[in-house]
Amino acid sequence: MFMINIDIEKCTGCEECINICPVEVFQLGPDGKTDPFQAGECVGCMSCVEVCPVQCIEVVEM
Ligand code: SF4
Ligand code: SF4
Repeated sequence: MFMINIDIEKCTGCEECINICPVEVFQLGPDGKTDPFQAGECVGCMSCVEVCPVQCIEVVEM
């Protein structure tokens, strides 16, 4: 199981994480920022961490 922490102040809503996640963890929230609404599906591939241009995603194994 993985915990996804987003520094929401830094998120620009570029959707890179939404597009790259193989298990569709993210959606764009009403505030125009990423929302890890299916965090429970995360497989810990770290693609979102690597792709985020402002490095605001942290994925931690629990
Ligand atoms: S680590 Fe991989 S599976 Fe988990 S949210 Fe990021 S892209 Fe999706
Ligand atoms: S890749 Fe980073 S900046 Fe872009 S929407 Fe995802 S969390 Fe926000």
